Amino acid sequence: MLNPVEIILKKRSGHELSPAEMSFMVNGYISGSVPDYQMSAFLMAIFFRGMEKSEIVELTRIYIESGSRLVFPEELKTIDKHSTGGVGDKITMTLAPIVAACGGHIPMISGRGLGHTGGTLDKLESIPGFDTFMTESEFKDKVIKHKLAIIAQSADLVPADKKIYALRDVTATVESLPLICASIMSKKIAEGAQNLVIDLKVGSGAFMKTMEDAEKLGELLKFTGESFGQKVSVIFTRMDSPLGYAIGNSIEIKESIEYLRGINIPDIDKITKALAIEMLLLSDLAKNETDALAKIETVIKNGTAFDKFVELVSIQKGDTNSIINPDLLPKATHKIDVLSKQKGYVKSINSQKIGYSLIKIGAGRVTLESPLNMGAGAYLYKKIGDEVSINEKIGEVHTDDTRLGNEVLNDILAALEITTHKDFEVNDEVLKIMR
Ligand code: URA
Repeated sequence: MLNPVEIILKKRSGHELSPAEMSFMVNGYISGSVPDYQMSAFLMAIFFRGMEKSEIVELTRIYIESGSRLVFPEELKTIDKHSTGGVGDKITMTLAPIVAACGGHIPMISGRGLGHTGGTLDKLESIPGFDTFMTESEFKDKVIKHKLAIIAQSADLVPADKKIYALRDVTATVESLPLICASIMSKKIAEGAQNLVIDLKVGSGAFMKTMEDAEKLGELLKFTGESFGQKVSVIFTRMDSPLGYAIGNSIEIKESIEYLRGINIPDIDKITKALAIEMLLLSDLAKNETDALAKIETVIKNGTAFDKFVELVSIQKGDTNSIINPDLLPKATHKIDVLSKQKGYVKSINSQKIGYSLIKIGAGRVTLESPLNMGAGAYLYKKIGDEVSINEKIGEVHTDDTRLGNEVLNDILAALEITTHKDFEVNDEVLKIMR
């Protein structure tokens, strides 16, 4: 007879757990026979002692088997992207329609924003009427018929992760590589993605601050996916300044529409294309990188990627008029210019600080229950390495509350480090690809 205390003690002493022991804890926690306090101690023991790769794969399997699993016909070569999250990260909205327009089938389950990072579901829900809930069979039908659907995690899909993630959030056990890996990969496997590209963000605005930590996580994610038969590529991208110029919900949708309509936004362009190339290669929709890039550029130029986004909005009950005319998207009542007080070059941007500051005006949330103001947010027009002059307009805060908006303005100015000489290197957006 297994005993939670002995299992906790075994992990606390740094030993490898058997699948039966992990299953006993996880399934016991779901059914209520293992209480919060023992599960918390178990998670903390994993946090400090880590796990062997084989344990992580087994834990992922136990998570997947806690709920239902979608299976798509093999010939579809379904492909998804997972981003570890950042500030201004609207890449799903630019990438998924492009890949779908090139023939990829994308079953995408996305998350909500929390803390300094935004969430794809929140951004999509800023489109009036957009519905991120549907049954698993509706989701499957839409992916097969329309090539793309983006939904919230249902109660049936990896319930173990849903319950354990909520506990990790309040027990300081989120930043554990084995737990992050099981959490991410169980969802990506259960949703039916046969192949996966991971956008692993590295830098001050990301979960992983150093390349060393990011590489460790990347290797674990790839190993776990491959153990379940997925082909996985990991792209390490820079997250030391917000992506694009807009940070907020409806304004990020607006910016994504601009990109899909052919406006060049350099960092969005580089990351979107790098990920899209990998997605087309993994799902055998392109012969090589050059062929993939040509296909991607064609669907942007001929408007089929934009049309795919309109189609996505339509099949998820959103108002397509607001995509065709983005001025119809929710808007804040006031716009406040951000003027530079210094002259020089932008050396660094504390994206995390900007992300947290935007919570004040409702563009982000502290807990999953916090209300959002869909039109609130900020534009920051400067990137690392850019020159600024005194009184130059470098951004704009969109807010319904001018007092709080002015606080955000000051936080943005304080988040920028400006030096008189450009005596620093500017890294490329795409740091490394692990295939
Ligand atoms: N995202 C997830 O889905 N799970 C984690 O544990 C961390 C980030």
